[in-house]
Amino acid sequence: MKILVINAGSSSLKYQLIDMNGEVVIAKGICERVGSEDSSFEGKVNGVKYEKKVPMKNHTEAFLVVEKELTQGEHKVINSLSEISAIGHRVVQGGSLFKESTLVTDEVIAGIESLCDLAPLHNPAHIQGINACREVFGKDVPEVVVFDNAFHSTMPPEAYMYGVPYEYYQKYKIRRYGFHGTSHRYVSGECAKIMGKDIKDLKIITCHLGNGSSITAVEGGKVVDTSMGLTPLDGFIMGTRSGNLDPSVVTYLQEKEGWTPEQTSEILNKKSGVYGISGGLSDDRDILKAASEGNERAELAKEMLWYEIRKYIGSYIAVMHGVDAIVFTGGIGENSQPLRQNICENFAYIGVTFNPEENKKAIRGQGGEISGPDSKIKVYVIPTNEELMIARDTKEIAEKILGSDK
Ligand code: AMP
Repeated sequence: MKILVINAGSSSLKYQLIDMNGEVVIAKGICERVGSEDSSFEGKVNGVKYEKKVPMKNHTEAFLVVEKELTQGEHKVINSLSEISAIGHRVVQGGSLFKESTLVTDEVIAGIESLCDLAPLHNPAHIQGINACREVFGKDVPEVVVFDNAFHSTMPPEAYMYGVPYEYYQKYKIRRYGFHGTSHRYVSGECAKIMGKDIKDLKIITCHLGNGSSITAVEGGKVVDTSMGLTPLDGFIMGTRSGNLDPSVVTYLQEKEGWTPEQTSEILNKKSGVYGISGGLSDDRDILKAASEGNERAELAKEMLWYEIRKYIGSYIAVMHGVDAIVFTGGIGENSQPLRQNICENFAYIGVTFNPEENKKAIRGQGGEISGPDSKIKVYVIPTNEELMIARDTKEIAEKILGSDK
């Protein structure tokens, strides 16, 4: 069974074609700046990247480009779209409506649409992606939506409620939803497999650290708390996002600087975090380099990030009354050796030991156990694979309709 995984953003469309027989990626690519004059395509087949300028006025045109790249020319990997059995879409915001991956129907699209207010940058783009797919593939090919926050739907109310008047929860569904759920689900599942234990018997803290970052407490396979909230702005400092703040910081600055809600959102989402503290560096590699060269603000940004990660891990140990394993994933989690070393060494007091050799080896997609053999708490680097998770969910749901021999 071949499954096409789609991640549609407001001006981009990423895809992976996965053969579920062996879970092999056959082709992947991204259409960028869809809707603008200089739209472009970048693909990767057999480990070889290629790119071209292609006009794409909208997501349907982007889809036609993907179809052409998959079925024609020198990078062709299938004869026709009919070889694709099902399509899986990433959807950022499922709100309280969707607690698990779901087959796309008109009602499901209406549900995703009703949540656009909670994810104004993402959900409208996902709907465009789903509709474009329906146009190109027809309604008979099963489409499945996999929600970024579905894994977090098990959080108890004391973890997901905010301390604002209850009526706003009732009126607007203001609460913590969490994000990166597909990644946290994937790496916590892999962690249990590596440990050779049933996930039901484990307390795991998963650290997805990238441009956007979140940390999640997974007890018995279920999320009990996570750092991101109503939106992906909550939690700790990220590449350009502030993470949580005293809300008075926001109202005070709005008064002093005369910011509108849009300007406030722009500054907190795009000009804050590590970027805002360092004065223009958001890439963790640049921060580490500048800090090592004596740049004090880069050093401060680095220390703030590491400190906040330790604080979240510590608080989730308290939430779960212990922890069996800590997992690092995401661009920073999978690559930043000094960050991982700092975290491990700071938890020595609860029995974490650190293996520097294994820490050095775990980089660029290479995972490993970075705690020492005598460590009371296991620490792993596990490269995330959200697309595979989406493909697995899609396969499971599609097979109920198509049968397992397709
Ligand atoms: P993601 O959003 O998961 O793609 O992660 C992007 C982040 O990973 C960026 O901040 C990168 O700087 C960071 N990253 C990638 N490679 C490294 C590395 N070797 N060391 C530290 N950070 C890295």
